[in-house]
Amino acid sequence: MKRVEIIAVGNELLIGDVLDTNTNWLCKRLTMMGAFVRKAVLVRDDEEAIASEVKGAISRGTDLLFTSGGLGPTDDDRTVAAVAKAMGLPLELNEEALKMVERRYKELYEQGFVDSPEITPSRRKMAILPKGAIPLFNPVGTAPGVWLEVSAGCEVQDAEKGKTVIVCLPGVPAELKGIFENSLPPLLEQVLGKGFYDERTFEATCRDESVLAPLLKKVAEKHPSVYLKSKARTFGQEVRIRILLAASGSDKKAVEQAIRNAIDDLLAELEPHGIVLIPVAEG
Ligand code: AMP
Ligand code: MG
Repeated sequence: MKRVEIIAVGNELLIGDVLDTNTNWLCKRLTMMGAFVRKAVLVRDDEEAIASEVKGAISRGTDLLFTSGGLGPTDDDRTVAAVAKAMGLPLELNEEALKMVERRYKELYEQGFVDSPEITPSRRKMAILPKGAIPLFNPVGTAPGVWLEVSAGCEVQDAEKGKTVIVCLPGVPAELKGIFENSLPPLLEQVLGKGFYDERTFEATCRDESVLAPLLKKVAEKHPSVYLKSKARTFGQEVRIRILLAASGSDKKAVEQAIRNAIDDLLAELEPHGIVLIPVAEG
């Protein structure tokens, strides 16, 4: 399974002004595609802090590293510069990205959303990318996303751990989703290949998670490819604890079978304790 990491950038996230919904959205989408999201962090709009996380992710052998935020026209949008810094790459005007920015400002001007289509230095900044980057068209906003393949020769790359692809996306959720849905799919499929994710949720007729714990542990140990999680709730007379079983992989049938086998064993473990499982429609 491909290893994915996410860096969400923005002071607004760390002062608690904006909730980091982008990471959650990316986690869901990438998991559904069969990828393994193993780490996500929040960092301030600080070049050193971002660069340090980028280097860490590359050195851990991450296959796909996403950043969210910090691609805009303002001076505090430092993500692209930080990625270039982390990889020792020069920043340069990307002609393809410039065309995308020009096209979007022309469209926004024609729609009456901006007063001029002119490419000012702030607008031009969004087309200045690390050398070798591929711009990703932004159908919603103006800043192109960035696709950058880290070559094995890069100073922070460990050749044995393989290639890392860095994908930088804007912070505005509609823009992040717009690029992910419209411009990324063909490139992403090349990296992730075909992957499947499946999950089942049940309500257990049990109100005490500590009673479930040893039973779940046994089943989890027997089925390491299945993620088994009881969802704790506050105590109450009528409480029923939810249990999630999830798995991913490249073979749809094998994924479904793994979950079915784990459910069978779970039922067998719970039965002597008088606990039954009631299927729940949501994930
Ligand atoms: P930026 O691209 O960093 O300039 O972000 C633009 C706007 O997107 C911010 O002012 C936030 O309102 C929003 N935003 C940034 N990061 C996130 C995030 N991780 N989750 C949700 N919204 C975000
Ligand atoms: Mg920002």
